[in-house]
Amino acid sequence: MNLADISTVKKLLQREDFSFKKSLGQNFLVDASVCPAMAAAAADKNTGVIEIGPGIGVLTVQLCEIAKRVVAIELDERLKNILAVTLADCGNVEVVFAEANFSFISDAMKIDLAALIKEKFADCKKVCVCANLPYYITSPVIMHLLESRLPLDNITVMVQDEAADRICATVGRREAGAVTAAVDYFAQAQKLFTVGAEGFVPPPKVKSAVIKLRIRKTPKVTPLNEEFFFKFVRACFAQRRKTLLNTVSNTLHIEKSVLRKALAEASLPENTRGETLDMQTLCRLADSVYREKQG
Ligand code: SAM
Repeated sequence: MNLADISTVKKLLQREDFSFKKSLGQNFLVDASVCPAMAAAAADKNTGVIEIGPGIGVLTVQLCEIAKRVVAIELDERLKNILAVTLADCGNVEVVFAEANFSFISDAMKIDLAALIKEKFADCKKVCVCANLPYYITSPVIMHLLESRLPLDNITVMVQDEAADRICATVGRREAGAVTAAVDYFAQAQKLFTVGAEGFVPPPKVKSAVIKLRIRKTPKVTPLNEEFFFKFVRACFAQRRKTLLNTVSNTLHIEKSVLRKALAEASLPENTRGETLDMQTLCRLADSVYREKQG
């Protein structure tokens, strides 16, 4: 069965009287070249793969061919019968639905992925997440995966093209945002290729892109206090047109004198804007302010 063939997909869905739920980000891939490329970028024969949102299984099938084992987490139980048919020939896949395993719940945002990895992938040399992500939870899912410090090799996902550019930008350049720095802290981000709206059914309003986040063994910088570093970074990017001095003092209620001192110590002018700073400088400033706050 060719799951990237639009008439096959439509027949399958009609048979189950399936209607797409926009609220679940249901845009299914029908570009035959995309899934094999995503699977090859993410996994090899020693990899355990977590897929979020298999839909009708178009990417799942390709992952099963390449990887050692696949666990696919799907929120929409209406897809159960369809997946039973489309994945019938895959011997190395498990689809997690609410009742399928009482210790798991089907929402990828709430599942205990650390426990899942231990239980399902103990014999895999590496583990990755590969998904055509529902766009309504792109950033929360990526940040949740990174912040959970799961033993992942990579996260290879389809996201909106605009989000891909933001995530994969260079910290210190205009295109970067707080999410760029947050991702860069944990992983090396790379945009692999773009996919037009015509590659999906129904077609989304925007272009998409596949990105690969290679998880770092240790974070890119080592701040004195990680929680404060992230707060500081978010504040730096909160009001992009304002100087770091103004936006950080407004957002975090820190006295300007403390920020002036930190800027001077780093030999930076008072009108410095957060978006111009690289990770090392952001870390240095956050540390200075943190030290000052601790007295
Ligand atoms: N992988 C399929 C493909 O590429 O055609 C489907 C991708 S579609 C963009 C997103 C999928 O994620 C849908 O099947 C949707 O039901 C599922 N989904 C949405 N929210 C989810 C969540 N919180 N946890 C797990 N799956 C979710």
